Formats: sequence, C-alpha cells, structure tokens
Amino acid sequence: MKDVLVIGAGHAGIEAALAAARMGGQTVLLTSNLDRIGHMSCNPAIGGLGKSHLVKEVDALGGQMGRTIDQTGIQYRKLNTRKGPAVWATRAQADKHLYAQLMKSIVEAQANLVVKQGMAAEILVENGRCVGARTEMGEEIRAATVILTTGTFLNGLIHIGQYTQSGGRAGDEASTRLRTSLLAHGFRLGRMKTGTVPRIDAKTIDYSKLEEQKGDTPTPKFSFYHDRSLIEQVSCHITYTNPKTHDIIRKHLHQSAMYSGKIESVGPRYCPCIEDKIVRFADKDRHQIFIEPEGLTTHEVYPNGLSNSLPFDVQVAFLRSIEGLEKVEVMRPGYAIEYDYIDPTELHPWLETKRLPGLFHAGQINGTTGYEEAAAQGLMAGINALRSLDKQKDPFVLSRAESYIGVLIDDLVTKGTLEPYRMFTSRAEHRLHLREDNADQRLLPYGMDLGLVAADVSNKYEKAMLAITQVEEQLRSIVLKPNAETNAKIESLGIKTLVNPNTLAEFLKRPEVDWQTLCILDPSLQNVPRETYERVVIHIKYEGYLKKEKVEVARALKEESVVIPQDFDFAQVQSLSNEVKEKLIRIQPATLGQAARISGVTPAAIGVLSVHIKKAKAQKNRLV
Ligand code: FAD
Repeated sequence: MKDVLVIGAGHAGIEAALAAARMGGQTVLLTSNLDRIGHMSCNPAIGGLGKSHLVKEVDALGGQMGRTIDQTGIQYRKLNTRKGPAVWATRAQADKHLYAQLMKSIVEAQANLVVKQGMAAEILVENGRCVGARTEMGEEIRAATVILTTGTFLNGLIHIGQYTQSGGRAGDEASTRLRTSLLAHGFRLGRMKTGTVPRIDAKTIDYSKLEEQKGDTPTPKFSFYHDRSLIEQVSCHITYTNPKTHDIIRKHLHQSAMYSGKIESVGPRYCPCIEDKIVRFADKDRHQIFIEPEGLTTHEVYPNGLSNSLPFDVQVAFLRSIEGLEKVEVMRPGYAIEYDYIDPTELHPWLETKRLPGLFHAGQINGTTGYEEAAAQGLMAGINALRSLDKQKDPFVLSRAESYIGVLIDDLVTKGTLEPYRMFTSRAEHRLHLREDNADQRLLPYGMDLGLVAADVSNKYEKAMLAITQVEEQLRSIVLKPNAETNAKIESLGIKTLVNPNTLAEFLKRPEVDWQTLCILDPSLQNVPRETYERVVIHIKYEGYLKKEKVEVARALKEESVVIPQDFDFAQVQSLSNEVKEKLIRIQPATLGQAARISGVTPAAIGVLSVHIKKAKAQKNRLV
C-alpha cells in the first residue's frame, strides 16, 4: 500500500507527486500518457499578471514550476513595471518540448516516486474512505490517499466548427469512465469549456512586416535561490487583426462551435475566443496578436489572441487576412474543448473532499484555468495528502492574508466557481503585502518546516534576508547634510535641494528619487546587487502603506485563527436563518474567517456563530 496516488501528470499532478515524495511519502504518479507529462495544452508560457505570484509562491514552498521554467524559457519579460510593485509580474515564453522533457526526467528521477502509464477508470472506496484507483486495464493501485488532477480530460469533447471528437485535448484520449465512478459517489459535476489557437508554420510567416518584441535584460527569473542556465533567447512579434479578418469571422459565426449554440458550457471570461472579442467589442477595428515561438527546435508558432472554434478552412482564411500571415500554413487547427469539473465547494480548504476522506482534488478539475493555478493547488494537495496520514499534524492551509495560494483556494472552496477561475492581483485584499518579490519572505520558512526546501536554499535565503536588513540599516543611518556640496550634486540631478538633514531612507521616499540617485550621492552603494536593492527600495518607498496593511493582515489572521471544530453542528444554532444554516452545512467552513466570506452569511450571523463555537469548545474541554 502506497501513501499517495496522484492521478494525472499535468501541472497539478507533477507538483502534487513531487511534494509528497520529497516529504518522504511513498508515491505513485499514474498518468494516461507518459509522453505528455508536463505538456502545455495551450499557451507555451509560464507566469504573467497574477500568475507569476503563484509560481513564485510555489517556488518559495519548495515546488518545481519556477525551477523548470528558469531552465527552459526562451524569452523572459517583466510586466507592469510602470505600475506599483504589487502588480509587477514575470512572464516567460517556454520551449514547450524542453519544459515537458525536463519535468518528465525530474519526476522519473525523484526518490520515493514511481511513475506509471495508465488511465484511471474508477476510484476505490472502502468504509467510506478512498483507498486507491482501478485502471481501465483492471490494475488496482492502492494508496492511503488519492489526488485527482485530471485537467480537461474528464469527459472531454473537442469542437472544431461543427466537427466533434472525444478527447482530453488534441492528440489525447478523454477520461470517460471515471466520471461514472465520481457520480456514483455523489460528487456534483459541472461542465466548462476553453479554447486554443491554431498553430502556424514559422517558415510561412513574413516577419519583415511584424513588430519585434525582445525579452528584457537583465533577464528576470522565477526561482528565488536555484541557479539557472539560460538557453538561447528569441524574440516574439506583434501583428493585428483588421476589418477584413473581422468580416470573415463575423460571416462564419454560425459555424463556430462556441457561437452557434453547440457548446453551452461556460468559458474563461478573461481569455475570450476571437469570435467573442469581435462580437463584444464590435467598435474595435483591430486586436493585437502576439506571434510566439513554441520552442527552439520546432517551427510551430502560437498566434496568441486567436483562440477559436471555427471550421478549419475559416481559420486558414482569417489567418491569411492578417498582415505578415498572408501565406501562412496552419499546422494544427484551433479548437474548443468542453470538460467536466467538480464543484470545488466539495473540498475542505486543504483540498480533501468532504464526501470521501482520503480523496483530494487539484487543478483544472476544481474549475480553474491555467498551469500556475494548477501547480499551486497540486503542491498544496500533495503536502496535505501526506500530512493527513500523520494524526499529530494539522492540515497545511495558507491564509488569504499571506499568499495568493490562500486567495485561490479560499475563493474556490468558499464561493465555488461557475466559470473557469484564473488568478488576478485584484482578487487579493492585501496585495501590497503579497508581492511576487517577497514570496520567499512570506512562505519559504513554511517550505523549510515542511522539509521541501533544501539546506543550501535556506542558507541562501537567510543570507539574502541579512543583506536586505543591512542595506536598509545603512540607508537609515547615513545622513545627507544640506551643505553646498551635497545640494549642488542634488541640483545637478534635477531634484529639489535639501533644507534639513535627511537620512538616505528619508530621501529615497521622494517620488523622484530612485536607487541610481542614491548611488550617485553615496558611491559605496553601487556594489549592492539588484535583487537586494530592489526589495529595499520597495520596502522604504511604500513603508507607510505597508504598515497600514500590516494591521489589516494581523486582523485577518486573527479571524482566521478561530477554528470551527469539524464536528460542529450548524443545524443546532437556532438563531441562524435556514438559508444561512444551509450554506454553512454545505460549505462547512474551517474557520470563522472563512464562514464570514460565504455570500449571504451576515456579520450578525458570524457574531452568533462565534458565541456558539466558544460554547462548544468550552463544553468539549470540560468533557476532556
Ligand atoms: P492538465 O495539464 O490537463 O493535466 C491532466 C493530466 O491528467 C494529463 O497528464 C492527463 O494525461 C492526465 N489524466 C487525465 N485523466 C486521467 C485518468 N483518468 N487517468 C490517468 N491520467 C489522467 N489555460 C489558460 O490559462 N488559458 C487558456 O487560454 C487555456 N486554454 C486552453 C485550451 C485548451 C484547448 C486546453 C486543453 C487547455 C487550456 N488551458 C488554458 C488550460 C491549461 O492547459 C490547464 O489549466 C492546465 O493544464 C491544468 O493543469 P492540470 O494539471 O489541472 O491538468
């Protein structure tokens, strides 16, 4: 009997299996096709707005995604740098084949982890607990806990125009029998859809007509403390749709699977297909298209922004109406896919199902979209599946106040989702505190306690924290005097001169002063590495806001610390309305904070609940 069985080796399954195995659990990773481990079904890119925060949090906790993309990225960019640091983001274009190859070799080499090919057809349940799975071939794999990460494969149906085909994604078989087994155990399944773009042949693109977009230097990275070897870097390009493209698409809308009414399930609002963009933004005469290479050794190119489910000939026609793509050859059609997901309010905040102890769900199966959202859930499910086997240990749950992972999981398990859920920085209440640059400060100590962060990484982390503290102390102790020499220097930089003495830290708070200004005034600072001074600058410039937010974070953490006992009987609380009771019974919040976030649960209801929880705990203590 194994400790953990992970079903599916996509972005959730990989993190789940690695986390459980690295923490010492005997783990099996079962997946329907070994050649597609870590495959990027859609965009060959990791990170982006809101999503890079998740990748960096996964890295801080000891996960794999950041390390792998650092080795296999072919273009890296820092996004949103003109805005405040809370929304800065990192994005990398991946060599998608190298990414998947590296992930495959990492899981195969991992101690305590057995990787197997097979399609799970049924979950095994004994005495009300999930104890493994049976494959379509009839093999039984028994494990104390099971993590389901089936992505878009559950009853997947592919649509290209009016053509329909069963599939988990293009080129992969759908998982059809598992659905029956899940339904038989009472799980609430829903249906969602998503789409992808046609892949085009680089040889047939006229790059001379396109705008070039190079990566950034210095090259940003994802993993805080793992070294990277940078492979060859390439450019992306930009082109635009035009009125002719829109006419072609409009004329064939009735043949689009998404638009003809053939697919009725809900798709990702923030990643709309081109049909949707043209109908919803009818006044716009062009949409930007990023021409993104899929790797160094392939000619396949991803025209980002052209996800659609039109017939193949229409896809070819509208592509050829776009500047630079007049002679383009389409190597694979774009398509839409419909798939089953399981209502995430079926889950506890540690991602175990309430219905079947021992069974965990992570990734797209929970109604999310995106590799990063999947990886974050996978890591948490892997950690918690293994921890659940040790009765001395509490589940590992991150709060909304300390992480985007907490925001993601709390949103899913408290509110559920009716459309594919993707992460945005706007979903977090404390986003100045939850920056991508400080994910290590927020979470790496947890990774150390969990045994997921190696000693060399924790040493590097401690050194980095010390360096930040020392530089900050330096800036707070060096005083600029308003003498003629200093003021002349300041004036020559076009900055208002000093009237009173200022520490460098005080001076840095002025909006027009940056690190380079400080280096001119005090050349000894020139040797401070970028990764140190960037964090010092943010901390000092935003000190006032951060202090205010810290008070709110502390308040939120306090509410979160009131744990509701798992056997607490909401039905017995008489002063709650039936509607509130019904919601509390369905969601079974783990803390008072979570209860307060359930829609319709009023502050008055929380007050009543708080009194009853105290009473119930006091009574339990008396009995003990
Ligand atoms: P997946 O990466 O799908 O992995 C599932 C894994 O489970 C696979 O390894 C599969 O082989 C295995 N598996 C499934 N069933 C079984 C079974 N019964 N037994 C054994 N193994 C099984 N994301 C975005 O962010 N934006 C987009 O625009 C976008 N568009 C997409 C378009 C398409 C057509 C598709 C297919 C996906 C798209 N995605 C998009 C979603 C993105 O691919 C997923 O969010 C991400 O891959 C989810 O990761 P996961 O680990 O949950 O599942």
